[in-house]
Amino acid sequence: MICIGRNYAKHIEELANERPEHPVVFLKPDSAILPRKNPFFIPPFSDDIHYEVEVLVKINKVGKYISEKFAHKYYDQIGLGIDFTARDVQAKCKEKGLPWEKAKAFDGSAVVGEFYPKEYFDLENLKFQLTKNSLLVQDGNTNEMLWKIDALISYVSQYFTLKKGDIIFTGTPAGVGRVVENDVLVGTIEGKEAFHIRVK
Ligand code: MG
Repeated sequence: MICIGRNYAKHIEELANERPEHPVVFLKPDSAILPRKNPFFIPPFSDDIHYEVEVLVKINKVGKYISEKFAHKYYDQIGLGIDFTARDVQAKCKEKGLPWEKAKAFDGSAVVGEFYPKEYFDLENLKFQLTKNSLLVQDGNTNEMLWKIDALISYVSQYFTLKKGDIIFTGTPAGVGRVVENDVLVGTIEGKEAFHIRVK
């Protein structure tokens, strides 16, 4: 999984981060995927786990140095997920200029919900939402992305060979926040329920 940070201006502001010159990129291993139907268990090393709802793109063939113009040929499914983040651990890593993996790539940190054919959607104007305990907490639209899906594919493929089955997490909009035991998170993409997660 290839993840993008700081791709929505209002989210950059809420965490008081700098607006990046290029996409911020990090990885999650496949062991980070939260198995389907499992609850998310708050890990013992953090007191401040945040949800981040994100649009997902599933890569359908191998590619390297993909130009933005041809990027659309490398995916045909769009989904929704959560990039769970140990914000307290991340803050320590950021302070020291250390890598983020302990905060972002731990077991269960990647919720990968349903995927849908990309033709279902207008990818430039795609609405997606997250509710926590039935309250709307994140209300995003891909039209607010600093780098669009095709630009992200082009950018990350300059560094990493993309392979069939790779998933790109495209960054979170504003509204991130903490989860506690018994919270229920539901993600929808254009009104379709893509995942439903209980926190333990
Ligand atoms: Mg994120």
